[in-house]
Amino acid sequence: MKNIITDKLNSIAKQSNSKTRKVGCLIVLKTDDNKRYNFEGYNQVLTEIHNYQCNVDEFNNPYVYHAEAIALNKLTKFIHESSSINIKSIDIYVNWAPCVECTKKMIYLKLETLKKQNTRITLYYEKAKYTFDNQHHKTQRDDFIPKNVLQSVGIEVLKL
Ligand SMILES: [Zn+2]
Repeated sequence: MKNIITDKLNSIAKQSNSKTRKVGCLIVLKTDDNKRYNFEGYNQVLTEIHNYQCNVDEFNNPYVYHAEAIALNKLTKFIHESSSINIKSIDIYVNWAPCVECTKKMIYLKLETLKKQNTRITLYYEKAKYTFDNQHHKTQRDDFIPKNVLQSVGIEVLKL
């Protein structure tokens, strides 16, 4: 199962035009009557206007539309247009753990968009985004900063 998901995430991420980090997001919504809907997103660098200074990456270029934001927008639009469906669960898969902005969008989904429904939301991430320089050794933590915030609102967070 893990390989199927990570292969799918990689194939979504491959479409990104980012030179430094290709991010893929897949959201799977399941209804009470076992229908399944997929929503995909990959990060898109909208302008490379900052290119004059240094090599553009997602941290230097603020004009990147994040994979999770794109997939969450598609999901939210679907939910608003499908008022009669009963959502059983929403699984969010990402190859890189989400940033604070995308974390806020997930919290908004749980607290505002879905407030009338008792929907189980789970975030599955493959790799953590943050690297820490620990005495000249860069280590990648198997964890990420907004994890506790997601869990505090009832979004389960699991590593793929
Ligand atoms: Zn983000």
